[in-house]
Amino acid sequence: MTERPELRVAGTPASAGVALGSAMVIDHQEVTVIDSADPQAAFTTAVAEASRELQSMCEAARSTGRAEAGDVLEAQALMARDPMLVDAVSAALNDGMSLDAALRRVDEEISGLFASIDDPYMAQRAQDVSEVIDRIRRRLAGVDSPDPRLIGVPSVLVARSLSAADTAVLDPELVLGFVTETGGPTSHVAIIARSLGVAAVVGASGVVASVSTGEEVALDGSTGDVVILPSESTAADFRARRAAAEAETAAADRFRGIGVSFGGRPIGVSANVGSSEDIARAVEAGAEGIGLLRTEFLFLDRTEAPTEQEQVDFYSLAGSSFSEPVVVRTFDIGGDKPAPYLEVETEENPFLGVRGARLYSRCPEIFDTQARAILRAAGTGDVQMMLPMVSTVEEVIELRGRIEQVAASLEAEGVPHAVPPIGVMVEVPSVALTAAAVAPHVDFFSIGTNDLTQYALAADRTNGSLDNLQDALHPAVLALCERTVAAARRHDISVSVCGLVAADPLGAAVLTAMGVDKLSVSARSVNPIKSVVDSLDRVETGPMVEAALSAPTAGDVRRIVRDALDRT
Ligand code: PEP
Ligand code: MG
Repeated sequence: MTERPELRVAGTPASAGVALGSAMVIDHQEVTVIDSADPQAAFTTAVAEASRELQSMCEAARSTGRAEAGDVLEAQALMARDPMLVDAVSAALNDGMSLDAALRRVDEEISGLFASIDDPYMAQRAQDVSEVIDRIRRRLAGVDSPDPRLIGVPSVLVARSLSAADTAVLDPELVLGFVTETGGPTSHVAIIARSLGVAAVVGASGVVASVSTGEEVALDGSTGDVVILPSESTAADFRARRAAAEAETAAADRFRGIGVSFGGRPIGVSANVGSSEDIARAVEAGAEGIGLLRTEFLFLDRTEAPTEQEQVDFYSLAGSSFSEPVVVRTFDIGGDKPAPYLEVETEENPFLGVRGARLYSRCPEIFDTQARAILRAAGTGDVQMMLPMVSTVEEVIELRGRIEQVAASLEAEGVPHAVPPIGVMVEVPSVALTAAAVAPHVDFFSIGTNDLTQYALAADRTNGSLDNLQDALHPAVLALCERTVAAARRHDISVSVCGLVAADPLGAAVLTAMGVDKLSVSARSVNPIKSVVDSLDRVETGPMVEAALSAPTAGDVRRIVRDALDRT
């Protein structure tokens, strides 16, 4: 048998790091079931197998501490054997239907029934029914149905797409890296990969069809290179890249716990976090507080919103982990992060729809509960509050009014709390352009370059095929940042950057030189970015910023900044 040659697939870099290991392919493509001589017997066997498979996966998830994944799987194991499903398929077979058609019809009927009940819990059950029927189909067709939550051995995940919720439940100990066909560099899948410290490449089209589970895959999350069945010399090259990346990280470690400054101004380098594991990683890296606590991950992949106490515990844990401020961003749901219990009608353009702060008036109790939790946590730690996706001054004024009402109720109830500094994300161009009008109403700005780029260049951040339009160092985005910084200076409020460009050495350099006070990055970038800031006093930053702002393209900006840094 001739050996297959190595195959190179180009993708978009999404999370730095180099991974080499065996692939686990998650292919959610539908399979077709071919009828056997005795479809009823084949179905009964497949039901038993699917249910057993789910039960053992449930036990594996629970034994590795993933209780939530275990619960979902247990419910699905029971559902596979549920008479409602089994009897309906048997009845359709008795009517003379093929097994494939019977399964399709029962899926439509049962999941349609659940979906028609206007209840988010039932909507989730509809999805479970479809997943269970899909698993039965795969048993009948003899095709494996792996699940990202259930990896047993360290693997490189290869998938058409992974939802934000899928990625949030991945076990970083077992995921060496991942490659997806869809998604852009600032999609939430990429953000979670970075926070887990897992190498990732997105937008690698065709990769799922090119690799089978168990085959060797090499990937470089800094370049977007993916190689399937790498030759010995390619594998050696990837091992060398991995060693170089590790050496660079080790060199930056000398900045752990050391403050950095530029032009005599202290520059904070804090962490972006989304979970208690991220908080631990940020503490470990010596981050100076949290510049962005993405609370929405607490709200996703569940059937109802977290309780006030659950939130108080989480925000207080964050607050007590650092001596510097912890910025808690109110939930930014919508766009590529839906939550089933929030009743938002399906939208044609969710990124331009009811997302972030626009959602709060539709679910006032959920917002008020979160605001209460943040104010209570602010009573015991240095916790600040930040509002995402605002586009107008009126929204800011209205939300501040709501927060004052929440404070008044806590006061009336005698619940200990404090009204913290309240800031906004600058991620919609209208806010950057009217930053001087917004500034008097807020205590700080944090520039979210991921969305600011998406909206300034009109390029969906999850669309991997538009990655040439998703560079936050585009001069248009820089101009919006500059305008924001100027307004912050004039109104004497602080301005930070918490988009991914803050972790890009060129982005950190030009934005710090432009006047931002703080950069917020994933834990593992904290020290490398401190080392970039530390080198800036040796750079001629004035001409660099001026040239970057008047450059015609993002490529020119990158060249200008790189040249200036190289001259040190
Ligand atoms: C941003 O938009 O830059 C940001 C930091 O927020 P998120 O990535 O969570 O939308
Ligand atoms: Mg954003």
